[in-house]
Amino acid sequence: MSIKIEDLRHVYMQNGPFEKVALDDVNLNINDGEFIALIGHTGSGKSTLIQHMNGLLEATSGKIIVDGVDITLKGSKLIDVRKKVGLVFQYPEYQLFEETIEKDIEYGPRNLGIDDEEITKRVKKSMEMVGLDYETYRHKSPFDLSGGQKRRVAIAGVIAMEPKTLILDEPTAGLDPKGRDDILNQIKLLHEKYNMTIILVSHSMEDVAKIAKRVIVMNKGKVVLEGSPREVFKEVETLEEIGLGVPQVTYLIRALRAKGIDIREDIYTIEEARKELIKIFGKSSV
Ligand code: ADP
Repeated sequence: MSIKIEDLRHVYMQNGPFEKVALDDVNLNINDGEFIALIGHTGSGKSTLIQHMNGLLEATSGKIIVDGVDITLKGSKLIDVRKKVGLVFQYPEYQLFEETIEKDIEYGPRNLGIDDEEITKRVKKSMEMVGLDYETYRHKSPFDLSGGQKRRVAIAGVIAMEPKTLILDEPTAGLDPKGRDDILNQIKLLHEKYNMTIILVSHSMEDVAKIAKRVIVMNKGKVVLEGSPREVFKEVETLEEIGLGVPQVTYLIRALRAKGIDIREDIYTIEEARKELIKIFGKSSV
């Protein structure tokens, strides 16, 4: 399954005094099995773009082809698109409302008219996929859980629709470091073990460097950089100009180089930095 975006433009409140071009001439190809990070300053168009990918917004112009179907055509079945592309909004736990976790997760599939047996199967599977034991948690209230666990329940509710592609808007926002790592590892597992295509919207360059295979950078409604984390994080000046940056550890490496230490410039994760520093200073000093 692929998502192809051709010359996509989105204008909010067109022809009015508050007209705002949120997406301008966006062209993208997202292939089956990719792990993509979408980054950009607030207001760069990320949310608008991901809402187009599952048919929540109508394009001002351009095409969006999901699994070979142009969803911008009048009369296209958006319900099919939403089954294929799941979207987890920011702070999705605010949308939990049922009295038990099980009921919350089955809400989406039930709306699709799926039978009880299949629903139970899906709830079990999606809870397993987000690392929540079915028997332990099914009857608990989602409101008794920690922030990170609530978020897992919300993600399970989207996964229960069995999408092939999962888009997550800032899934680590507001969590403590352990909660962030747990959710990121879970998302990695969804990709590696369950073969889901992942599109992760993130503000954290650390997370992006650690986890994504391809990075798409947006600024003022346009895609300005695209490539592997290594290729994108090389463009330090461009990233800083648009209000982003590179991972903290990359700045540390740059500072060490400025002090005359001969260390590779292209280091973007703490693990890489550790290895290089051990090479230079020996294991006991790092
Ligand atoms: P991001 O997700 O990168 O923060 P958005 O897609 O939310 O960016 O916003 C892109 C631009 O569109 C911003 O200038 C924002 O103010 C504007 N915008 C977003 N949603 C709306 C809306 N519902 N009505 C009008 N303007 C909007």
